[in-house]
Amino acid sequence: MNSIAANIANIRERLPEQVRLIAVSKFKPEEDILQAYEAGQRLFGENKALEMRDKHEHLPKDIAWHFIGHLQTNKIKYIIPFVDCIHSIDSAHLLAEVNRQAAKQDRRVRCLLQFHIATEESKFGFSYEEAVRMLVSPEFSEWRHVELCGVMGMATNTEDSTLVRKEFRTLRTYFDRLKQDFFSGEENFREISMGMTGDYPIAVEEGSTMVRIGSAIFGSRNYNL
Ligand SMILES: *Cc1c(COP(=O)(O)O)cnc(C)c1O
Repeated sequence: MNSIAANIANIRERLPEQVRLIAVSKFKPEEDILQAYEAGQRLFGENKALEMRDKHEHLPKDIAWHFIGHLQTNKIKYIIPFVDCIHSIDSAHLLAEVNRQAAKQDRRVRCLLQFHIATEESKFGFSYEEAVRMLVSPEFSEWRHVELCGVMGMATNTEDSTLVRKEFRTLRTYFDRLKQDFFSGEENFREISMGMTGDYPIAVEEGSTMVRIGSAIFGSRNYNL
């Protein structure tokens, strides 16, 4: 077994059956993705629109591509034709634009609302109040080309597992409140995307349904390439 396949097997063993594994392949070559594919992996996460489009073009068509990075509105059009889920909807403006592009291409695109749960300034995302403001707005009810399927968040990058757990718990609470107040009849609103290489065991304990794991599968990334 190659090391990518072994890493995936290892992680799967630690995940409850109902938790889906998104293999985060950003910055990684297509050969690496194929190795994961041959090990049975079908969900992959990318954070750059053009990189994801190119990989989609070259790689097997039964791969489900999940977009997990900050999405610029002028890049939306490149991923709309095939994206399986956009995890990183971080503003009402972005969701409106995804809806507009999806309408043009006659698609309905699954999206998650990204919440700002970390103490770090740099992480994107809604506050709970901002999300509610969008959900009660008259515009929102007209966006028929997007389907909200849940929430996503990134915890603070820290060794302090108490803080990380608290942040994941906050995201879980947001999910529960939104489900109750806005999506109670909607079966597809059910995803909590949280947990990365350094913190996924905690995320799973706190109710994650999708973990996004890169370096534990593919090794560390070289951002200077
Ligand atoms: C890169 C990235 C991941 C994966 O990070 P690892 O620590 O390598 O597992 C998960 N989520 C998002 C949003 C990312 O950008």
